[in-house]
Amino acid sequence: MRKFCSKCKQWKDMEEFYERRRIIGGKAKCKACEIESIKEYREINKEKIKERNKQWREKNKEKIKEKSKKYYEENKEKIAAYKKKYNEEHKEEVKERQKAYQEKNKEKLREYKKKYAKDNEERLREYRREYYREYNRRKRKEAKEREEKKNVL
Ligand SMILES: [Zn+2]
Repeated sequence: MRKFCSKCKQWKDMEEFYERRRIIGGKAKCKACEIESIKEYREINKEKIKERNKQWREKNKEKIKEKSKKYYEENKEKIAAYKKKYNEEHKEEVKERQKAYQEKNKEKLREYKKKYAKDNEERLREYRREYYREYNRRKRKEAKEREEKKNVL
């Protein structure tokens, strides 16, 4: 038995078609055309699909985070052991790679650092300010506590 492919307009053997697909209105597509169609669809709707995926991720952010956290929690030891093993087995390699990367990207890294500092000037300043504020707060608290202890003794 043969079937007509509505895309490439050819009669083809049944095994050239996906069986599971229920054909509505006799618009059958052979496997090759089916794959082609999916590719075309993806190509045409690349941006839309990307946008949809982004939206999906955005919507499920918590769920994804939760899931990866759960995975991490459940496999913490395995992951750590794997990392450790890998680093130990590839110690020299890892070191070499790091060094090579830094060497190769010296300029870029420096630029990046500079750019980062510039782009985040305000934030870094705020961060430092907050840090010192916290530091002073702690110091004052400690001094107060020392003072109180002294008074008790
Ligand atoms: Zn076809």
